[in-house]
Amino acid sequence: MSEPFMTADFQARMARAATAAADAELAGLVVTPGPDLTYLTGYLPVNTERLTALVVAPGAEPVLLVPKLERPDAERAAGAEAVRMADWVDGQDPFAVLAPSMDPVGRYGISDNAWAMHLLGFQEALPGTSYASLTAALPMLRAVKEPDELARLAAAGAAADLTYGAILSVPFAGRTEREVAADLAALLIEHGHSQVDFTVVGSGPNGANPHHEAGDRVIQRGDTVVLDFGGLKDGYGSDTTRTVFVGIEPPKEVQEVHDLVRRAQQAAFDAVAPGVACQEIDRVARAVITEGGYGEYFIHRTGHGIGLTTHEPPYMIEGETRPLVPGMCFSIEPGVYLPGRFGVRIEDIVTVTEDGGLRFNGTPHELAFVN
Ligand code: ZN
Ligand code: ZN
Ligand code: ZN
Repeated sequence: MSEPFMTADFQARMARAATAAADAELAGLVVTPGPDLTYLTGYLPVNTERLTALVVAPGAEPVLLVPKLERPDAERAAGAEAVRMADWVDGQDPFAVLAPSMDPVGRYGISDNAWAMHLLGFQEALPGTSYASLTAALPMLRAVKEPDELARLAAAGAAADLTYGAILSVPFAGRTEREVAADLAALLIEHGHSQVDFTVVGSGPNGANPHHEAGDRVIQRGDTVVLDFGGLKDGYGSDTTRTVFVGIEPPKEVQEVHDLVRRAQQAAFDAVAPGVACQEIDRVARAVITEGGYGEYFIHRTGHGIGLTTHEPPYMIEGETRPLVPGMCFSIEPGVYLPGRFGVRIEDIVTVTEDGGLRFNGTPHELAFVN
């Protein structure tokens, strides 16, 4: 278990968020339950119709408004000491309680997952305010990880690697994708995950759908199977993909496509360095696959950030010109998807260091053979 985050960690994060808001010409941030609130306060309530909201603004003490009946829970949050807490009771207008803490004509960044009824409540209480989603306004708010966050992501990656090692010895042929997916989920939990986010088992032609979850198809000898799985361990995400073959003699094209994707993954990893634009990672991977003749079958971005959630900024995609910064963590997951036939994807989580990329997944990239 890693060291718990302390009041000072949350104070520093909120101070950084306030500075980032000012730099983005925002009056502040309105943060509702979800990963941003967890990040800034350590408080993770269930998001309900009763308003819970944190207002962070430059030069002001952060205010966390909670329903009074949930205040005891909020006060137990790791970052509770870092905020001024306010509460409201049923029948009261919660927006009126928060309004004096806000700039009546300010523009605010608001959590992506804020309920529409809450955003509308703010707009009605403070008609002069305006709002931008936090991903649009401050996409890099949680992107650069602190050392204690990196340790958690490394541990989640190691647990996903143990899961992969173990899944190689379960039977594939004659069982459904759903059964293998259940094995993956059980193994993630066994290796310390508290939450399983996805268990993709794409066998044979189903592998050509990158987000095919797992269905009733019975896996056959001779199938190529895409295994993409991850979730949260100690609050931080894992996400890895390997492609396996059921049998020992893969068709020539399966081996060729797999080698190509492997080279693309390695080339993109080798390109990771501080200052390199995110889109460059995508370009490098795509160039390898295009040169190999399969460019039109690489149908998604090369990667996504990971942290308190399994998909978040920064995105490794054409048009994302922001530079890589040490401490950023993201996936590198090129793939080739041949409709009606098979798919191949190889995915590692990588962090940026001063010296280049460092993988949080370390299992072999070679096509593995399963039974
Ligand atoms: Zn995905
Ligand atoms: Zn994945
Ligand atoms: Zn991914």
